[in-house]
Amino acid sequence: MNIDSIKRGIVLDHIRAGRSMDLYRYLHLDELECSVAIIKNVKSNAMGRKDIIKVDDDISIDLDVLGYIDPGITVNIIENGAVREKKHLSLPERLTNIIHCKNPRCITSVEPALDHVFVLSDREKGVYRCIYCDSKH
Ligand SMILES: [Zn+2]
Repeated sequence: MNIDSIKRGIVLDHIRAGRSMDLYRYLHLDELECSVAIIKNVKSNAMGRKDIIKVDDDISIDLDVLGYIDPGITVNIIENGAVREKKHLSLPERLTNIIHCKNPRCITSVEPALDHVFVLSDREKGVYRCIYCDSKH
């Protein structure tokens, strides 16, 4: 795989330096059959250093997970060797089964089949609350 030019795939840009391996795990990129390139500590005018992940296939990525981990990431969708679409992320309003409630008295700790759902309660501070017990995350 030529990491400079992919024909069709996804490039995650402006990842905070050092976070690419976390993303790799969260997005289950290890389970993909296609080539994945992680480029660490790229010089960036805006950020100083950044990480980039290139995926050599048109996979569907959970933008909510991505936005939760790092809303500053830019998602570039590549088609025919050119950027077809650039997506900017923000913190999602709702997270389902991405983070888990740690309150031992929460219903989710006694009902394992229940989805762990959090809603964004403070966008500035990035605070999420469990919809069942109101615990902060
Ligand atoms: Zn809870």
